[in-house]
Amino acid sequence: MSATVIDGKALAAEVRSRIGTEVAALREEHGIQPGLAAVIVGEDPASQVYVGMKHRASETAGMRSEQHVLPADTSQEALEALVAQLNADDAVDGILVQLPLPDHLDPRPVQELIDPAKDVDALNPYTAGRLAVGDPTFLSCTPYGVLEILEHAGVDTAGADIVVVGRSNLVGRPLSVMLTLKGRDATVTLAHSRTRDLGEVCRRADVLVAAVGRIGLITADMVRPGATVIDVGTNRAADGSLVGDVVFDEVAEVAGAITPVPGGVGPMTVTMLLQNTLEAARERRGLPRR
Ligand code: NAP
Repeated sequence: MSATVIDGKALAAEVRSRIGTEVAALREEHGIQPGLAAVIVGEDPASQVYVGMKHRASETAGMRSEQHVLPADTSQEALEALVAQLNADDAVDGILVQLPLPDHLDPRPVQELIDPAKDVDALNPYTAGRLAVGDPTFLSCTPYGVLEILEHAGVDTAGADIVVVGRSNLVGRPLSVMLTLKGRDATVTLAHSRTRDLGEVCRRADVLVAAVGRIGLITADMVRPGATVIDVGTNRAADGSLVGDVVFDEVAEVAGAITPVPGGVGPMTVTMLLQNTLEAARERRGLPRR
């Protein structure tokens, strides 16, 4: 293997430890304990695992974490009433409504209701709009994690050709915008299922980000030698193991640096949720973010 394997787990541990130190200082100097409220509707097992991870991570960092578990038949009105109550609760700095919601619930009005000052999951269209006009408030957690990984890996994004494959509102689209902001200054191509000749597009990339959800999509012949490859994909293989979108073994022979799955982007997603909650707690009380 020629590529450097980027250790997202180690980076996440480093960032979480720094966040823990900042949370302790906030409590000591200002008597503030950042609080994260997670809302989960129904019993989707994956959602329960994700919310559990976020809960443990925020408590480990010294934050206050509350979980609101609503029954699967909760009405739209009841869910929105809970969000309104969390908006009004001064002890809550960040609100996250775990997706997917059961089919009878519409996530959009719920996301639009979250106070933008507490929108640590960055799914309120207001938050996305602020990013789109180049004046972001909170960065959505997975793309924010990718930015941290690139910075940690010493990748200079200024003027770099970056190809992001996948245009979801959760990952690909916000990441493409973040990379083009002043200060990051990348030249970004946002590819998707209608992209003609994906291989040719990907081979132009100095940095290639795969955020699709298709096992085996990115093969070695699609990667420019020496490129940095970030694999956001999280897929369950037939044998039950977690795999990304990138064929790791063969791409690692061509790439300059690569993130593994698991242990790459995943641990950074929860970490950046903590970072956003810390930033929300500071900003809501008139303290500078960092
Ligand atoms: P999504 O909403 O399903 O979006 C997938 C995107 O991939 C769409 O834009 C789709 O294009 C595009 N696509 C589908 N097939 C393609 C193909 N053959 N060639 C090129 N593009 C194609 O998924 P998502 O929520 O963004 O998640 C993407 C992956 O990231 C999933 O595996 C998910 O589990 C993972 N994920 C990981 C984390 C983490 O923390 N590590 C967080 C979030 C998501 P169209 O728009 O044209 O349909």
